Amino acid sequence: MSKNSPFPADFLNRAGLNRQHVFSLDKLPTAVMATLGDTAGYRQLILLGHGGRRLWECVTASGIGGEHPIDDYCVQTVGRWFAESLPGRRHTLLYPGEAAIGLQQLGKLAGWHQPSPFMVGIDAEWGSWFAYRAIVLADTDFVPSRPVERQSPCLTCSSQPCLAACPADALSGDQFSLARCAGYRLEPASACAHGCLSRQACPVGRIHRYEEAQIKHSYSRSLAMLRQYF
Ligand code: SF4
Ligand code: SF4
Repeated sequence: MSKNSPFPADFLNRAGLNRQHVFSLDKLPTAVMATLGDTAGYRQLILLGHGGRRLWECVTASGIGGEHPIDDYCVQTVGRWFAESLPGRRHTLLYPGEAAIGLQQLGKLAGWHQPSPFMVGIDAEWGSWFAYRAIVLADTDFVPSRPVERQSPCLTCSSQPCLAACPADALSGDQFSLARCAGYRLEPASACAHGCLSRQACPVGRIHRYEEAQIKHSYSRSLAMLRQYF
């Protein structure tokens, strides 16, 4: 492979992993490097995400089942991508996995993440309808990505419909109240058991809003975690 090869994104775009960012390891902050484990022999860190509905369509079409179909699909897809597009290139998948890597920290470095009142990252193009899906250490030499430069849509959102949409008033103070949100989500007749009304009230990136089935899947998992903790 010649130096600074263009990133081969077609396979990933078709597979629904349509957000990609290449970091050079020697440019990452020390605090991030400390979360990556043994990076010997690797030159780059590849962050993969999805925006919009395509990923869920691919997961559904693949017929993959189980408790974690999106993660399992992404692991398989990254493996196939390296096998088909990058044969012989060493790589280690760090996420999904056990390593405690700050996804939002990497998202900020990539310019993907802006904070929202409901504590899900937001972006002027995708709204809150994107997520981090895979992080890979790779022996590659792709052209490093430039951070996305988009201002937070919340800075110019005067009506802030997300605030009024929260039935638990969890967004009204100086900071998000996890206790009020979790308490309401765990109520027997909660309207937020399987989705966040504030997130759905945000107009930014609405055309990319996930299908109901994906929303229900994601929030059912977070509800199960809340039941464990509270
Ligand atoms: S409704 Fe406005 S303030 Fe709330 S997340 Fe969307 S852009 Fe930001
Ligand atoms: S899940 Fe419901 S209670 Fe929690 S922030 Fe969203 S709208 Fe509010």
